[in-house]
Amino acid sequence: MTIGKLIDGKAFAAGLRDKVANGVAGFVQATGRKPGLAVVLVGEDPASSVYVRSKGKMTVAAGMESFEFKRPDSIGEDDLLDLIEELNQDERVDGILVQLPLPRHIDEAAVIGAIDPAKDVDGFHVVNAGRLATGQEALVPCTPMGCIMLLKDELGDLSGLEAVVIGRSNIVGKPMAALLLAESCTVTIAHSRTHDLASVVHRADIVVAAVGRPEMVRGEWIKPGATVIDVGINRVADIEEEGKSRIVGDVATAEALAHVRAITPVPGGVGPMTIAVLLRNTLVAAHARAGLAKPEGL
Ligand code: NAD
Repeated sequence: MTIGKLIDGKAFAAGLRDKVANGVAGFVQATGRKPGLAVVLVGEDPASSVYVRSKGKMTVAAGMESFEFKRPDSIGEDDLLDLIEELNQDERVDGILVQLPLPRHIDEAAVIGAIDPAKDVDGFHVVNAGRLATGQEALVPCTPMGCIMLLKDELGDLSGLEAVVIGRSNIVGKPMAALLLAESCTVTIAHSRTHDLASVVHRADIVVAAVGRPEMVRGEWIKPGATVIDVGINRVADIEEEGKSRIVGDVATAEALAHVRAITPVPGGVGPMTIAVLLRNTLVAAHARAGLAKPEGL
């Protein structure tokens, strides 16, 4: 039996971060300042705090300026909107990221909508979503952008391929489908109401799973030779060690390996790409704001 390949997202992300660091050096030379990324964290959610800390570290490692703004859970929406406006006006800030989720009393859409689209490095603002949907230059959400980079690296030209995206969220599924369409794939978006998901998945040359259900996509669903991108991050109890947990994706990787051409592992596949693309988006935003051409190879 042939075994498919595991796509090394960790290595690809490290290469991308190196390219970003080179681009940052060029930007500093051209402008005399570092690109800056501002991250806003509301509340004390431990997972969000870990993400924000690691984003800050990698931003600095890439040679950029990192600004962190921690605010208590109790912050009012108006105060948060004031902070966003300050960051919109701050010349040192090229990218603004508001760590989600926000507390329930704050309207997420209003906060994202307040970010200057030119600084919206998460690509969640409706202006960027609209630009992506209409094929214009946009800041694109980091996770799907990372997925398309891995797919193009593995497959080269994607045009004409049948792609199935499972999940229709604004941050992964929908922009993923738009990116695949822009690569001239024939795109299907499957979701919680889709009938007979196994058959839908079975026709795909490219499967992107972004659901949040541990190992939901089974190996036998996959068409032989398909390439699978597993976006899911699910914490499950470890059956081998009591009291311990481990992270699995939305795809049953061990089963899928007998069918796929290639698949991203979890962890070590899509996960590391997200922060690397965030840094890339910040550099791209900095260039655009400075009136410079997009850095080469990014
Ligand atoms: P979400 O909950 O917003 O969306 C999940 C989607 O899955 C929905 O559109 C829903 O219709 C679909 N769905 C639910 N049950 C289904 C079923 N039984 N069959 C088919 N479709 C079904 O989630 P999200 O924010 O898009 O994230 C999806 C997964 O990706 C999560 O595990 C999340 O942790 C992970 N994620 C990873 C990264 C990363 O950096 N690797 C980034 C973002 C999200």
